[in-house]
Parts: sequence; C-alpha cells; structure tokens
Amino acid sequence: MIKQFVPEEACLKCSGCCRFKEADSVWSPCLLEEEILSLVDKEGVPALSLSLNKRIVPVPIEGKDGFFCPCLSVADNKCKIYAMRPFECQLYPFLIAFRNKKVLLTVDLNCPYAREKADSREFKEYVNYLDEFLNSPKFIRVLKENPHLIQAYEDALDCCELNIQDETK
Ligand code: SF4
Ligand code: SF4
Repeated sequence: MIKQFVPEEACLKCSGCCRFKEADSVWSPCLLEEEILSLVDKEGVPALSLSLNKRIVPVPIEGKDGFFCPCLSVADNKCKIYAMRPFECQLYPFLIAFRNKKVLLTVDLNCPYAREKADSREFKEYVNYLDEFLNSPKFIRVLKENPHLIQAYEDALDCCELNIQDETK
C-alpha cells in the first residue's frame, strides 16, 4: 500500500472514480501480475473479467447510465475490496505515462482534489514521496514486469520522470 494523497472522505463525497463512460474505458484500472493472482477468482472478491491489457472490464448496472467497476458498491460509493484494491487505484489521481520517449509520473487534474491542491506544499511533498517510492529499485522491477501500466495519458500534468531505462538500478 502506498500513502494516499486524497483523503477518503473527499473521495466518498465525489463520484469521479470507479465509473466509466464505456465498457472498454482506458480509465479502468490495470492489474499487476501479482494482483491478478490475488484478486481474480478469489473468495470475497467480486467476479472480475480482464481485458487483453489486464484491465478490469467495467459492467453495466441496471437503472444506471454508464459502466461501473464490479468492485464498487454503488449504494454507498465504497470499494468492496478497499484494503486490497489495485495499485493503480491507490495511485490515482497520479498515473504512470509514456510521453516523448520518457516514462513519467503524471497527475490527472480532472480529479477535483488534485486540481485544488496542485500548487500546495502538500502536493509537492507527496510528489517527492512518490518520486522516491516509484524510482526505488523494487518498484522499477515491478514496472518492468508490468509494462501495461504505462499508458499514453496525454492530458495529465507531468510531475517527475521514472528511471525505468536506468539498468544500473
Ligand atoms: S476524482 Fe479524485 S476526489 Fe474524486 S473519487 Fe477520484 S481520487 Fe477521489
Ligand atoms: S477496485 Fe475499488 S477503487 Fe479500484 S476502480 Fe474498482 S471500486 Fe474503484
């Protein structure tokens, strides 16, 4: 688990995450290989279908528009697997992006909390924390084993570079 930037109470009041316009939305979380083993077809976890790039396939819900992560409890806006939710869910509104031949930590300013805090000291300190965490040899190994996590999120704001090409790490 990584430290969270957005407080849980801010997310509970917002309905920006875990819901998607399309069933093949790029915003649905991709799973790490180890998460596929620990979450798919496991007791206590809702049935999950994965797309070719290991993304959770959102499902329609009767009487609602759009698609939802199967792990979302729509009635109370809570994640049913919060304690073991995927790494990408923990990381959001931050995203790992590939742009101009670089792997970058970026932030999605569509998240209202991130947008409000983007110039704050708290935001800079959190980016420094993520820079250290994501550039650790342990996480760079995870990223090399899970290249599907690196996506072309064109509109997200750059925060720092990840040294995935640095073979000395
Ligand atoms: S958009 Fe931001 S504030 Fe809203 S639920 Fe997602 S992370 Fe939380
Ligand atoms: S796993 Fe939980 S936090 Fe992640 S998208 Fe699904 S409901 Fe949301």
